[in-house]
Amino acid sequence: MPRPSRRSRTLRRIYVKTPKQTKLVYAKRKHNKAHCAKCGKVLPGVATASPYKLSKLSKTEKRPERPYAGVLCSSCTRKTIKSKIE
Ligand SMILES: [Zn+2]
Repeated sequence: MPRPSRRSRTLRRIYVKTPKQTKLVYAKRKHNKAHCAKCGKVLPGVATASPYKLSKLSKTEKRPERPYAGVLCSSCTRKTIKSKIE
C-alpha cells in the first residue's frame, strides 16, 4: 500500500521503464494553457505555471501588454475594439 500522501490523485502517476523493472514515479500535473474567451484558441505569450511561480514573474512576463491581454487573442481583440468604436 502506498503511503497516505501518495494515495490521492493530486500527483500524476508515471510508469518509468528501467532495465530491471517498471517503476512508479509521482509527478506534478501540468497546468492548462490560457485560451481566448471568444474563439478558444491557445493564447501565445501568456505564462503557464503554478500560482506561486506566476507570482514570481514580472507583470510583462505574465501576458502581453495590450488591452484584453490574457483574455482575448489578437484577432478577437482587433474585432472587439473595432466593433466598440463603430
Ligand atoms: Zn480569439
